[in-house]
Amino acid sequence: MSAPYVGRFAPTPSGSLHLGSLLAAVGSWLDAGDGVCLLRIDDLDTTRCRPDYERAVLRTLDTFGLRYPETVIRQSARTATYAAAVTRLGASVGLFHCDCTRRELSGEGESCCLKDCRDRRCDPTTSSLRADLRTLSPVTVIDRSLGERHFDPLTQRDVIVRRRDGVHTYALATVIDDAEQGVTDVVRGADLLPSTAWQVALQQALGLPIPRYLHLPVLVEPDGSKLAKSRRSAALESAQSLPQLRQVLRWLAQDEPPAAIDTASELLSWMKPRWDPARFAGSSVITLEA
Ligand SMILES: [Zn+2]
Repeated sequence: MSAPYVGRFAPTPSGSLHLGSLLAAVGSWLDAGDGVCLLRIDDLDTTRCRPDYERAVLRTLDTFGLRYPETVIRQSARTATYAAAVTRLGASVGLFHCDCTRRELSGEGESCCLKDCRDRRCDPTTSSLRADLRTLSPVTVIDRSLGERHFDPLTQRDVIVRRRDGVHTYALATVIDDAEQGVTDVVRGADLLPSTAWQVALQQALGLPIPRYLHLPVLVEPDGSKLAKSRRSAALESAQSLPQLRQVLRWLAQDEPPAAIDTASELLSWMKPRWDPARFAGSSVITLEA
């Protein structure tokens, strides 16, 4: 028998939730069905995340009818756990320090950094820590919507597990937290598909279970570009919860909830047993109207 469904939604409290984050929140919440969807706060970057943003995010989720179990992990409080994981990781893959700047790394198609820091012995106090992807196996992910995806670590940039300021990265933290919380299903936007390769490679290297993946289509502008900042930063408003939830369900090609439903939680309860990810299978973008 397979394990009971455990999913999660992991917002970053560096601003307000917007329509794109609502789509991910709704998709992950509905997909849990009779299982559970946990809430995890991805506040690793303490320079961008703020407690008042976090309170606003929690309030918004609540007014949109998205209720979660009370135990909420904050990644900012788990540095010691991530540090221990880096030590374990070092036993099975090559780790090296890299002092390349963002500008130096902006060139495409480089599997490592431009200076090939693997052989340079960079100063650890001013360098990020990378896992040498040459020591990792090729990865195949069967995404529930997008199908079979193959990733060759040699074509990917070596993954950073700890930034030069000492902050552990999302790629590492999410892998550790998913395993510790028994997450069976990761449901998130297709913009995160490339990072799935690193995460599965890290899961394999650490001997952790690999969850199922479902990448939801992401909202794009009419010309196909990423959601414009103006739309990304437009905060969700509780007064708009019903029309915006209905809009998200239409984007995901789900059944239209009856017009008589007049609360957000009632709408989500109605939708839960009807949720059908096959309706958007194979689609990685939703193009907004101008
Ligand atoms: Zn480098």
